[in-house]
Amino acid sequence: MLRGVSPSPLAGTPTSRPWFDAEDPPSRRDLNTCIHCGLCLTACPTYRELKIEPDSPRGRIYLMRGLNEGRIAPTPELVEHLDNCLGCRACETVCPAGVPYGRMLEETRGQLSRRAGGGSSGLMRALGEAALRSLVPDRDRMQVAASLMRLGQRGPIGAFMRSGAAQRLLPAFARRGFAMTPEIAPRRERALEVAARRLPQGARMEERDAALVFIPAGPAQATVGFFTSCVMDVMFPRVNQEAVRLLVLAGCRVEVPRAQTCCGALHAHSGLRREARALARRNAAAFAPEALDFVVTDSAGCGAALHEAGHLLHDDEAADAARSLAARTRDLAQVLAAVGLPEPTATPRSRRDPGRALRIAYHDPCHLAHGQGVRGEPRALLRRIPGAQVVDLPDSDWCCGSAGVYNLTHPAMAESQLQHKLDTVAAVDPELVVASNPGCLLHMARGARERGLAARMVHLVEALALAWPAPGEDTHA
Ligand code: SF4
Ligand code: SF4
Repeated sequence: MLRGVSPSPLAGTPTSRPWFDAEDPPSRRDLNTCIHCGLCLTACPTYRELKIEPDSPRGRIYLMRGLNEGRIAPTPELVEHLDNCLGCRACETVCPAGVPYGRMLEETRGQLSRRAGGGSSGLMRALGEAALRSLVPDRDRMQVAASLMRLGQRGPIGAFMRSGAAQRLLPAFARRGFAMTPEIAPRRERALEVAARRLPQGARMEERDAALVFIPAGPAQATVGFFTSCVMDVMFPRVNQEAVRLLVLAGCRVEVPRAQTCCGALHAHSGLRREARALARRNAAAFAPEALDFVVTDSAGCGAALHEAGHLLHDDEAADAARSLAARTRDLAQVLAAVGLPEPTATPRSRRDPGRALRIAYHDPCHLAHGQGVRGEPRALLRRIPGAQVVDLPDSDWCCGSAGVYNLTHPAMAESQLQHKLDTVAAVDPELVVASNPGCLLHMARGARERGLAARMVHLVEALALAWPAPGEDTHA
């Protein structure tokens, strides 16, 4: 028997009732896909670190299957083993049997959160769930929160947050959250409408009741819906604005529905499945127009969550709309590569040494590489930057440890993954490290700053903008 697993009173009886109830459990068919081959073990960051079976994909599946067969009941240790999982889905990439691990994990966490209180407790869990329920899905409240964060970064509050007193008085997760937060732009600069100032010649923006619409100068090659992502919207607004500009430059008509909301990824990872389903319903309706060839996002985590919408709502009256949303979801790199950017108009110069090639390393965000199988397109786009030398980081698809809010809830494990990632950055010594996911960018940038690395963490869009700048832009890296 695995450590951390208590036998239930029904242990060993073939007619045991599943511990899972009927609301959104992992399916027996999914659970039985695993053939116990163990090929996933060395791909798993927690197994590499902890070297025990219950902290491996195979061990966790065994635990889930035990719950499903009524052989075991949840214990704090069992919940901890499942909570330790980063949800990186590296195990899915190497699995020969096609085990849908990420989906099963989220369904199990949903059951544990709803019926067994989940893993963590206390202030942090209460704050996190309150934010996920009331703040994150509401774009106006997110903007107010961003303005407060901006206030907290400046003046006397900012000075206090950077002081030794704050280091002593504030809980670790608050200090870490503050250290990770990038400089928040003023409210007027965070609006997506700002992109209109930088559109290619002849392109225009129209403000309609249901959507913002960006129209290219010539005939549209594709019509895409743009998913803004709640975190990108407030922490990386310039990336969203530049993503829209590049899509228009590639010849896309870009529609940004006002009714869209958070993708629900953080909710699903945290076991708040009902909330994730409610958000998926809203997004399926917001992006319902079949005139949208693709639904495009520049956030890997959001893209992976939108791809799951069909499964999440498979038994819902919105199932068809959710399946359609999932089928049309694409990462920005896929659409830019497929529709095609024109020839680059600038050769970016290195800031470190203008005489040398700009050295760019690419990090594969888990939810892009493992969750969506997107690896080639971002690299192909980077290789089009004139004069750039594009290198892979060793173990480029190993998780950086960010994993949603995992870096706040499991700082020790997150930190050890981060340090391995930064070791590879230090070994390759690039000027830019590209990652198309806000969590990776925030987590790696904090780590790089604290370690004194010179490499800057940037989104793919920021690297591409060096070669396809808006008129009058500087193209220093
Ligand atoms: S999702 Fe990542 S951390 Fe979790 S079991 Fe799979 S490989 Fe391990
Ligand atoms: S690789 Fe797949 S089939 Fe093999 S043990 Fe891991 S999850 Fe199971």
